[in-house]
Amino acid sequence: MIITEPVHTSPLTSARQQLAKCIDILGIDPGVHERLAYPDRVVQVNSPVRMDNGSTKMFSGYRVQHNNALGPYKGGLRFHPSVDIDEVTALAMLMSWKCSLVGLPYGGAKGGITVDPRQISVSELERLTRRFTADMILIFDPQKDIPAPDVNTSPREMAWIMDTWSVNKGYAAPGVVTGKPIAIGGSLGRFEATGRGVITMTDELLRFKGRQMVGTTMAIQGFGNVGSTAAMLGHQQGAKIVAVSDVFGGIYNPAGIDIPAAMLYSKANGSLAGFPDAETISNEDLLLLKVDVLVPAALEAVITDQNADRIKADFVVEGANGPITPAADAILEKKGIIVVPDILANAGGVVVSYFEWVQGMSQLFWSEEEVNDRLRRIMTRSFSQVANLVTTRDLSFRMAAYSIGVGRIAEALKVRGLYP
Ligand code: NAD
Repeated sequence: MIITEPVHTSPLTSARQQLAKCIDILGIDPGVHERLAYPDRVVQVNSPVRMDNGSTKMFSGYRVQHNNALGPYKGGLRFHPSVDIDEVTALAMLMSWKCSLVGLPYGGAKGGITVDPRQISVSELERLTRRFTADMILIFDPQKDIPAPDVNTSPREMAWIMDTWSVNKGYAAPGVVTGKPIAIGGSLGRFEATGRGVITMTDELLRFKGRQMVGTTMAIQGFGNVGSTAAMLGHQQGAKIVAVSDVFGGIYNPAGIDIPAAMLYSKANGSLAGFPDAETISNEDLLLLKVDVLVPAALEAVITDQNADRIKADFVVEGANGPITPAADAILEKKGIIVVPDILANAGGVVVSYFEWVQGMSQLFWSEEEVNDRLRRIMTRSFSQVANLVTTRDLSFRMAAYSIGVGRIAEALKVRGLYP
């Protein structure tokens, strides 16, 4: 009997499968594998919130600290109905590999609240964010664990977290979060950093394959921080963005979408739906378009064994974390589709979060050009390290990236030893 993977593979199962594959390649000690397969700490809080109608409602929130062999825990906070310990743990593991891969002195963490922010008012959201922060007061810390934005969180939420933590501690602590507004110590270039990194990696891959950005066709799923910035920068650099989408669906124009107009439209209307000069396309069909580059930049597990054999892009650049399940990854590899993995493709965000943290610590702020230039150098260096392994060891981009990320943490664990 052929056992096929269920459509909804747990994100943690996927993350552990990828880790096991990499451990095999590297021949890493089973004790280290055991340590890396589990997070260091899992924290759940249940935060009571006074709702606008006077009632009280409980919301579950999480912080998972995966591994801090290389430095303080670092990772985003997600506000979404699907947030649970399993998902947050998987994302925390990815953060460990990502920080290590691009050479940051951070460990991996992730957090979130199980909530659909669109179903509550802004004042309820603020009270929830502040209460969650107070409940995590012993966990978040500029020296220990530094959150950042992720799905449905933005500089606004980071400002509430920074303020709540600072008020409770009795001093202003800008270093407790990154992705803050510029007015309270945010870094220039942070907002666009992840999408900028996605486009830098797309450009590097195209060059690696002897191609170029100008005229490249792209489809991008997700039009939030990552997707809309990638669309804008890709458009500015001469790519033809033929399709973009948000949670409500997508728009498609084979002649190329006017991205600046789509940005304005989405801001004014809260969604891309109804954008003129484009046909409607579903999120599922967007993934199947015949384009040069497909960028999934919304949620995880959108490319599975159920649709992988129908993907027609030459390249997939993972803007989102974990958009491709391991079974789908194997199918894409067999089809010769090159995938730039999340831990490389979307690392730009955490790189500039690190710059923000460093600037805050030293109270010395950099120009946007300096931020973007340093980001580009780190991203291109990381790409060439990965591409080098792809060529010399005949690995997929994912396994090459994992080998570097996981390998450095394994080395750090080895030299630090096991206490006691
Ligand atoms: P965001 O909240 O700004 O945007 C998410 C986008 O996805 C929105 O356009 C939303 O409408 C769309 N979306 C939500 N559910 C969808 C669905 N079911 N189908 C299609 N589209 C859907 O979030 P973001 O910060 O852009 O994050 C997107 C992805 O990138 C996530 O996987 C996140 O973990 C990853 N990421 C973000 C950053 C960052 O700096 N923000 C860094 C690294 C990785």
